[in-house]
Amino acid sequence: MNECQVDGAAIIARYDAVVEKIAEAARNAGRNPEEVKLIAVSKRHPAESVRILNNHGQLDFGENYVQEALAKQEELAEHTINWHFIGHLQSKKAKDVAGKFALIHSIDRLSLAQKLQKRMEMLPVSGLDGERKVQDILLQVNIGDEAQKSGVDKDGLFELAEQIMALPQLRICGLMGMPPASCVAEEARPFFSNLRMLRDELATRLGMPLKHLSMGMTQDYVQAIEEGATFVRIGTEIFGPRPY
Ligand SMILES: *Cc1c(COP(=O)(O)O)cnc(C)c1O
Repeated sequence: MNECQVDGAAIIARYDAVVEKIAEAARNAGRNPEEVKLIAVSKRHPAESVRILNNHGQLDFGENYVQEALAKQEELAEHTINWHFIGHLQSKKAKDVAGKFALIHSIDRLSLAQKLQKRMEMLPVSGLDGERKVQDILLQVNIGDEAQKSGVDKDGLFELAEQIMALPQLRICGLMGMPPASCVAEEARPFFSNLRMLRDELATRLGMPLKHLSMGMTQDYVQAIEEGATFVRIGTEIFGPRPY
């Protein structure tokens, strides 16, 4: 097999093992495995890999790059897929993603949210009573306090959330965060528990439930599940190393 071909059997075998590991981690933590949703991160992998896993029953896929994601959506238009946008989002790209993803995980500043809201206002209303579409989002928090990382600072989280709550066509569903890249497995755990506490505190201050915590990747999803993740975003362990 050359490097451009997709080994579907290998992807499915690795995927099945990941699904089992997720369920086991949830049960070990006293959680219902159904509370933890797997997002298969297909960035830089071909649409064919997504097609194979979707036919196998996986519904949620995560993408980082706008053009790549939209091309896959088009190629797989016949498939039922919940697309997640998980990468850094430039403000000028907000117009391209609005209404096209089940959940955008990476909202971290007001200017970006405002651009998204503007675009949502331009989408056609839906249903008989002309309801406006709502875009579900997560707020990405810079949980590692890293200088050059995406994500709102912990100190600015509450204010940002309040400002975004005033935008009628965006709905905050929870928080997303990534530990520093050098902190894997057990070293990542304190960052996850910190994000969960921030979520709980924010929900209390806003007076509304924030159901979701998007945290955990190939190297640390077991710890993330133990600390309360509702979405884990896993690429490498399912699809193998990214081609470039
Ligand atoms: C690439 C990426 C992932 C998946 O990472 P793996 O280590 O391959 O599992 C998850 N989340 C984000 C934001 C990513 O960019």
